[in-house]
Amino acid sequence: MKDKNKIFIACDEANHVCDKSQYKEASLWEMVKLNVHLLYCKACRTYSANNGKLTKMMNSSKTVGVSDNTAFSLDDDIKNAFKSDFEKALREHKD
Ligand SMILES: [Zn+2]
Repeated sequence: MKDKNKIFIACDEANHVCDKSQYKEASLWEMVKLNVHLLYCKACRTYSANNGKLTKMMNSSKTVGVSDNTAFSLDDDIKNAFKSDFEKALREHKD
């Protein structure tokens, strides 16, 4: 898993994580990567939103997405990687 610490993922991977998250199969780190991707990718935000609606209809009694009991406690290394990579990507996407 040499891409484990890569925070920026391609659209197809984002969609794959999005699919997995619907079935609670995505890891916390995958969810973080997906959410970062959604910050700058409108196409996947739309995909994710549509996907979320579908899941809500299928299991309306269950909570969809990251719930309150899933603590977002990232360690400092990941936080720092997240911050610097995110700022870099923002600059790249401004072109
Ligand atoms: Zn995308």
